[in-house]
Amino acid sequence: MRLLGPADVRRLAGELGVRPTKKLGQNFVHDPNTVRRIVNGANLTEDDVALEIGPGLGSLTLALLDACKAVVAVEIDPVLASRLEQTAAEQAPAHADRLTVLPADGMRVTAADFAQPPTALVANLPYNVSVPVVLHLLAELPSLKRGLVMVQAEVADRLAARSGSKIYGVPSVKAAWYADVRKAGPVPRAVFWPVPNVDSALVSFVRREEPSTVDRQAVFSLVDAAFAQRRKTLRAALAGWAGSAAVAEQCLVAAGIDPSTRGEQLDVVDFARIAQARTSL
Ligand code: SAM
Repeated sequence: MRLLGPADVRRLAGELGVRPTKKLGQNFVHDPNTVRRIVNGANLTEDDVALEIGPGLGSLTLALLDACKAVVAVEIDPVLASRLEQTAAEQAPAHADRLTVLPADGMRVTAADFAQPPTALVANLPYNVSVPVVLHLLAELPSLKRGLVMVQAEVADRLAARSGSKIYGVPSVKAAWYADVRKAGPVPRAVFWPVPNVDSALVSFVRREEPSTVDRQAVFSLVDAAFAQRRKTLRAALAGWAGSAAVAEQCLVAAGIDPSTRGEQLDVVDFARIAQARTSL
């Protein structure tokens, strides 16, 4: 198996007439060491079915084929999707039959799209949709037990933030509903073509048991409300969500939370308790 270097990426892009677009977050990795680092960090086993969202020209896909039982690559750009099987056959002939390409939007795939349920998400995600893609997949694919993804560095910080930090917010709490999320190191800009104008970083996650039996959507609506006005106390910020500041206060007290607290001080279990209290009033 040969990984793609700068000359391969340029050749493939030229052959396909690809002009990378910002809209689709098209920054292709042309550094085999980065690709190896991602695949090693994902700790895949021969029983894993890897899910890659946005395989692009196949830089990461090729290394994934070598590391697990099967790879499902979901690519929204039809030109890129149509070339991927050929690239696998040329560069990784021994394992090309492990690849399934879905020409689709990663934000819309459902469990029914997969012949084999994916167990691990490994991807260099399109940056403008990385948070909704990760949250969608964690909600939609219970088979997904862990993952390692490359995202914009600030998004990595936000996804992995713990309560009490300034960057803790909606993505942090929602991701924590599903998984233990950790930062897994920066990635230099020079490994991409074209070079992006933002920094990148890796984030890993391991799914855990959901923190509560309360309806997830009820908790997520509460989280959205709490952070929509993050400088306000929860009593004020949740007035609209609860119907009035008085009812918000009742829910908070019933959940054992001081009503003058701000949302950024609560973890996902606290939010679940408040949502639970709302249903029991
Ligand atoms: N994995 C490749 C690499 O590392 O070189 C390409 C990564 S590039 C940052 C993001 C890729 O995601 C592009 O190929 C782009 O066309 C694709 N993409 C963008 N939005 C998508 C979506 N909603 N669903 C699936 N793929 C998408």
